[in-house]
Amino acid sequence: MAAAWQDVVRDAAAVREAAAVAVDAALLAGVLMRTGEQPHASDVVNYAPFTLLPSAVPRALFEQAYAVQQDFNLLVDTISQNKEFLEQTLASTIKVDNFTARLFRIYMQVLEEGLAQTVFLGINRSDYMFDCGLDGTAALRQIEINTIAASFGGLTSRTADVHRLVLKVLGKTEEAAQLLPNNPAQGLALGIAKAWELYGSQRAVVMFLVEDVQRNIFDQRCVENELWSRNIRVVRKRFRDVFEHGSLDASRRLYVDGQEVAVVYYREGYVPQVYDQQNWEARLLLERSRAVKCPDIATQLAGTKKVQQELSRPGTLEKLLPRHPEAVARIRATFAGLYSLDEGEEGDRIAATAIADPDRFVLKPQREGGGNNLYGEELREVLQKIKDSPERTSYILMDKIKPQPALNYLLRAHSPLQVSECISELGIFGVYVRQGRELVLNRAAGHLLRTKATEHADGGVAAGVAVLDTPYLV
Ligand code: ADP
Ligand code: MG
Repeated sequence: MAAAWQDVVRDAAAVREAAAVAVDAALLAGVLMRTGEQPHASDVVNYAPFTLLPSAVPRALFEQAYAVQQDFNLLVDTISQNKEFLEQTLASTIKVDNFTARLFRIYMQVLEEGLAQTVFLGINRSDYMFDCGLDGTAALRQIEINTIAASFGGLTSRTADVHRLVLKVLGKTEEAAQLLPNNPAQGLALGIAKAWELYGSQRAVVMFLVEDVQRNIFDQRCVENELWSRNIRVVRKRFRDVFEHGSLDASRRLYVDGQEVAVVYYREGYVPQVYDQQNWEARLLLERSRAVKCPDIATQLAGTKKVQQELSRPGTLEKLLPRHPEAVARIRATFAGLYSLDEGEEGDRIAATAIADPDRFVLKPQREGGGNNLYGEELREVLQKIKDSPERTSYILMDKIKPQPALNYLLRAHSPLQVSECISELGIFGVYVRQGRELVLNRAAGHLLRTKATEHADGGVAAGVAVLDTPYLV
């Protein structure tokens, strides 16, 4: 990929001046996070980490990622309604992975009871890297699709303005004008508002289901404020609040603290650590309810790494979307190599290949949130240890994507200003609403570019590794 800012990236004085402007602009624009030291306070905050310079992104790949987003929305929504597929695909995983098994049990339980929910809302983010081929051309490769709690749609709505200013300070006025506007917060709120409206009760609220520690609250506030501006009431509750003050009426309407809830928007609930017995009970109560869950538990399961791996098997997409051959082709074109570690010959073979050549692969458990994948020597060691045990089926293997690095500065509070070799990951937000069997809304809602230094194999912004960025199309 073109090194876009070669002339300024090594100019220490210019960089220092631009960084000072950038940090103040980020604070003014509301690119904010609570601090690690005072994670419950909003009166001591700092800027969320971001790059000094926008990163070059090949225009054709950017457009390809947008063009396939509605297909991914359709695919995830279709999978969420296909019990047979989810059952078959996750059968081996739930034997060894307790967390997925527990989610799956709730899924089966609500199906057996019969769904009270009739309106469905999906908010996802499909993440990609630009894989650099031997001939130097880059290809769009999906890393994963996040079907629950996909974050940074709020803060990223504010980063383009910051980068526009930085480019002007660096004398790049024409380039500044080319940075695209981007407002995922508005797009996500549009979907939530549509689901709220179809639920059909003026007095019902939208409930953000949030973490105990809410460092990223400002990102969520961006979406909340969009809803308030449409005169939709928003409340923030934790699983514990639902356990203590939540109930269903005879027609399974959900009430929390006496308020009827139309939409439950999960920004929590994707890691096992948050679930004690009471929180599992709260989750079950939410899933049994008539409220629109974003996502419902089936859609959360559709976002597992195991499902992703099975989708890459020849014929699977065709079976799931038989009437959409063009969508299938667009989706498949973004897939990297993905491999099952299920017991049997196929799994034995790929496990041996990965042990012999670990740098070609990433080993992924069924976890979200960054920092869980294994690479290189560690991959080899773990795989060596579990290769003959059923435990290996809780993982999948994926080809490692190798993007072309570029130089940039990662601006982080309390960190020195230094140049880093960086790679970027592009996410496209998708939003859709289904009423009964009909998709009444299906859109791409904006993008997120995250950039990290190449010394970190894994991890996102919340994990403290990647930082917010803005694409500069080349
Ligand atoms: P999580 O659900 O924890 O976010 P991801 O699959 O998104 O898991 O992986 C986390 C991070 O690891 C990604 O943001 C990316 O930086 C890196 N990563 C994941 N898969 C690959 C891959 N196939 N090649 C290179 N890097 C990868
Ligand atoms: Mg991820």
